[in-house]
Amino acid sequence: MRSLVHVELIKNLEPIKDADRIELATVLGWQVIVKKGEFKIGDKCRFYEIDSKLPEIEEYEFMRKSKFKIKTMKMKGVISQGLVLPYNGNKEVGEDLTKELGVIHIEQETPKEEIKKHKGFFAKWLFIIKKKLGLTPKPVRIPFPRFIKITDQTRVQNIRDLKEMYKNMTKTYFIVPYTEKLDGCSATYYVKGNHFGICSRNFELTRNADGSTSHYFHIAEKYNIEEKLKALKKKKEVDMIYVQGEIIGPGIQKNNYKLQSKEFRLFNAGYSDDLDCGCTSLFSTSEALGIKSVPLLGSVELPDFEDVSNLIKISKRNSSLNKNVKAEGIVIRSIDNKYSFKVINPDYLLENQND
Ligand code: ATP
Ligand code: MN
Repeated sequence: MRSLVHVELIKNLEPIKDADRIELATVLGWQVIVKKGEFKIGDKCRFYEIDSKLPEIEEYEFMRKSKFKIKTMKMKGVISQGLVLPYNGNKEVGEDLTKELGVIHIEQETPKEEIKKHKGFFAKWLFIIKKKLGLTPKPVRIPFPRFIKITDQTRVQNIRDLKEMYKNMTKTYFIVPYTEKLDGCSATYYVKGNHFGICSRNFELTRNADGSTSHYFHIAEKYNIEEKLKALKKKKEVDMIYVQGEIIGPGIQKNNYKLQSKEFRLFNAGYSDDLDCGCTSLFSTSEALGIKSVPLLGSVELPDFEDVSNLIKISKRNSSLNKNVKAEGIVIRSIDNKYSFKVINPDYLLENQND
């Protein structure tokens, strides 16, 4: 589960123009508006990431008008992402507080909301009993293949030691490419031996049990992925080949790019003898398969300091799939594929977050 609240340090505090009651704190790589005078640089704090939903208790009463949800906001022309509150416990910096504070992800339902969904007294009561006994249905799913990494990306603002990562990332290469982060859903396809596997973000899917997730199958058919992977696997003489990419289009998220039909864009590829094969291999695999990759936007020289503002500036752009809409952000990947992270465009969040 994502760590939504953790102990952090106030790294910096600076005034906000024309504001005398608030100031701008830096926590990790995040910029967060705080009450003026509440913190000193170096103080420990509780840091609540965007997408947190707080329990409805007295301490968070000031968040009622935001429905207890932490989102990207803009005040006095300044973007603020997260919530910072004082911390007087004895946990170390970085330690997780999500569970003990009862914080959940915005999209997760509280037990109250779960119960509310069942209409009628009897249905509610039955649901509560079943839940207590652990009898609520869980979908049967095959685990994601062990030999492939899931596609999750760290947010650049959460990387604790950016300097160290840059050093490792750029030992041999100082300039790293970045691609547009597309807002769709993650899919992984692989062939191992003679088995063709279709996976969502966290599971391998089976044709029978996952009828609702059929766009994964639809894309496989549309792009002939099984056949193409098997052919390339044979040519490369490897035991396993995989591709990972984003499915975008109508019916997926909000179809931001206003596409007419579903499309698949590759962002990663690998072979059994070189699981961490880098982005040059992504582009060559994309060409070999005749399946487009995510848009390659350029390359960036990583600074040897901890400031992320230059990367955030780069992330603020329109999509190259549709120039009229904002891009979700960018993904930066080291050439050897060992390090990668995402930089989400704050302007995209301001426009696209739900109430
Ligand atoms: P959500 O769960 O709301 O979709 P998210 O997309 O930010 O959040 P993360 O795991 O945090 O999810 O980000 C990584 C995801 O971004 C990958 O799983 C992949 O599906 C998607 N993605 C889109 N474009 C790219 C890209 N160019 N490079 C790598 N991953 C990408
Ligand atoms: Mn996504």
